[in-house]
Parts: sequence; C-alpha cells; structure tokens
Amino acid sequence: MEKLEILKDKPLEELTEFFVSLGEKPYRAKQVFKWLMNGARTWDEMTDLSLGLRAKLAGTCVIDSLSVADIAVSEIDGTRKYLFETRDGLYVEAVLMEYYYGWSLCISSQAGCRMGCRFCASGRHGLQRNLTPAEIADQYIICERDVRNGADAFGRPLGESGRVRYVKHTDDEGKSRIGHIVMMGVGEPFDNYENVMTFLKNITAPEGRNLGRRQITVSTCGLTSGMRRFMTDLPQANLSLSLHAPNDEIRNALMPVGARHGVRELIAFAREYARVTGRRFTFEYALFDGVNDDLRCADELADLLASEDSSANAGSSAAPEFHVNLIPANAVPELGYAPPPRARVTAFAERLLSRGIRTTTRRELGSDIAAACGQLRSEKMETF
Ligand code: SF4
Repeated sequence: MEKLEILKDKPLEELTEFFVSLGEKPYRAKQVFKWLMNGARTWDEMTDLSLGLRAKLAGTCVIDSLSVADIAVSEIDGTRKYLFETRDGLYVEAVLMEYYYGWSLCISSQAGCRMGCRFCASGRHGLQRNLTPAEIADQYIICERDVRNGADAFGRPLGESGRVRYVKHTDDEGKSRIGHIVMMGVGEPFDNYENVMTFLKNITAPEGRNLGRRQITVSTCGLTSGMRRFMTDLPQANLSLSLHAPNDEIRNALMPVGARHGVRELIAFAREYARVTGRRFTFEYALFDGVNDDLRCADELADLLASEDSSANAGSSAAPEFHVNLIPANAVPELGYAPPPRARVTAFAERLLSRGIRTTTRRELGSDIAAACGQLRSEKMETF
C-alpha cells in the first residue's frame, strides 16, 4: 500500500518541493499550508485549489495526524483535557485552559518521557516515541477548531465557565483563537528538538497560522544544549525551566536529570539567557508537601537568584531578570506526592516577594479532571 503523506510534517520549503514533485506550481504549497495551519478538515474546504488537485491530494495525503479519543471537562473552571490518539495507537494529551484574556493550550512534545521525574505520571511508562511535527501541531490545530466553533468535538459548548472576559486573539471573522501555547505537557521538548522546532516554525510562519513568537513558552527540565540552541533559534519566544528545588540534593531526589546539570549551572545559564535575549527568564517551582516547600527552601532560592551584580545595583538584592512561577502540585497519590496546604504556598510566595523576587502562583486548573502532567494518558494506558 502506498504511504500517505502527512503534509503538516513539512516546513513550507519542503512542502513547496513536494508540490513541484507532483507537477504543481510552487505557489500551491503556500495555499495548502495556509489551509492546514488554519484548521481545514477536508480537501474540499480548500476552494482555491482545482478539483483535480483536491482529488490528487485526497488519494495521497492525510490532513489530521491525530484523532480525538476523549475530552474531560472540569466542572470547576472549564479546563478541557484532550486525549488524542495517533495513527499508530499511542495517546497524547493537551490541556485547553480559559483565562480572562482568552484561551491557552498546554501541549505535549513526546508520547511518554524518559526524564523520569519522580513526581510525574508521564515518566511512569517511559518514552514510547517522539511526536512528529504534525502530531505536535494537530494538538493546537484541532483544539483551535473547537475554540473557533465555540463547542468541542462532542458538541459541548466552550467558555461556559465565564472566566474568559474578553478574547485578545480572533480571526478575520471575529471568531476566537487560541492565543498562547505552552509546551509543558507530556515529554521534554528539547529531547525532541528538531520536530519541536519544525512545529514552532510552521505555526509562527506568516504564510500559515502566524502565531506570535512571544505567545509561545517552551518549558524544559534543564537540557542545557537544547536551551542554548533555542536561545539562538527562537530568542523571541519564552523559555522556562522546571527548577523545583533550591539545591542539588532536593532536585536530584525529584529529578534524575539534575545529575547532568546542577542548580547553580542552570541559574548561571538563565542569567546568560536573560542578558543575551533581553527577556525575563521564568523558573517553574512545583511545591510538594514536606519536600521543597518550607521557608528555608524559599530563602535558599532567593539567595541563589539574587543578582550577581547586586553590589553595583544600589544595594538591591533583587534579580529583575528572573521570575518564579510557583505551582502547587496536583496530587498524584500513587507517586506519593501531594500539594502543600494553601497557607504554606502563600508563605513561600510572600517570602520570595519580600526578598525582591518576582513571584506568581499558578491557579490550580482542572483539579477535578486529572490535569497533572500525563495523568489522563496514564489512566488510559492502564486500562489496556
Ligand atoms: S515532568 Fe516533564 S520532563 Fe519530567 S518526566 Fe514529566 S514530562 Fe518528562
């Protein structure tokens, strides 16, 4: 049987070569690229293509690389957790969140993960394989279809929680779009660097979806070679690092990857990143009850983040280039981790703020729908 082409895997230049190889004019690639990145479901929607070309594409190419297997909807805040199935039967998760300014999507870069973080449901089954650029893009493209339609694939209306006050990002017809992407789902993006970059290039291309680079955040557990490449390849995007501990002892117990690059080395890189790109660097810090949540940890973190240049900065110990995002961990009882009591989260945040560190605490979204990284996918895998 002839292999079907998955066009969303191809950057525009490759897509152009593909159309030329079919005997078509190069500009056809741009037309199809625009349709694909903007959510077309069928070849017949591509009304600026000839009927003959549509028939040719229908026989040789597929549009979607993923199908929707399930969607869990939070009754608390409207967060939707999408479970997608790949064409070879693997499961991939994305989480669609409602903020006052519109929709944000957390997407996955791998099926599984080999980084082995002890608190993470995704690492429990190891890495199945890297997701392709099309599989990464389709999480966004399929969810954005639902946002534009105002209802998900099962006909349930979106935005009913009333959390979205106004939508910053709309299309030419005034329909809502997903304005932000966070690569913080299943997988380590820099363990799948090439495919992630192809996806980011495609989704930001002016000829396609034209998503702003500043609307994208890539989160890493600390693979410094990938961080360095990213700093050069996409300096306008946001980079965040899952630190989760103020020292190597705690971090190595939570994250085996800590053995590769110590906390001080990561913070030195973050400082360099902020200097080179002129962008603020975000540290994600998940708080686990009794593990990394006491005030000594907050002080140790504040000491580390204090600017090296503070002596030259009028006596301030603040580090303006850094931002700490505290995340009260979602409970994953089978892994033995739980979120701290709310008062401890507040005390931790206040201590960092009092030390001059920009600090926010992330809202706990979708706590009733197993929204922690990889939980829904794990549950699905364990039913087989
Ligand atoms: S937290 Fe991220 S890097 Fe760590 S195992 Fe889970 S998916 Fe992988």
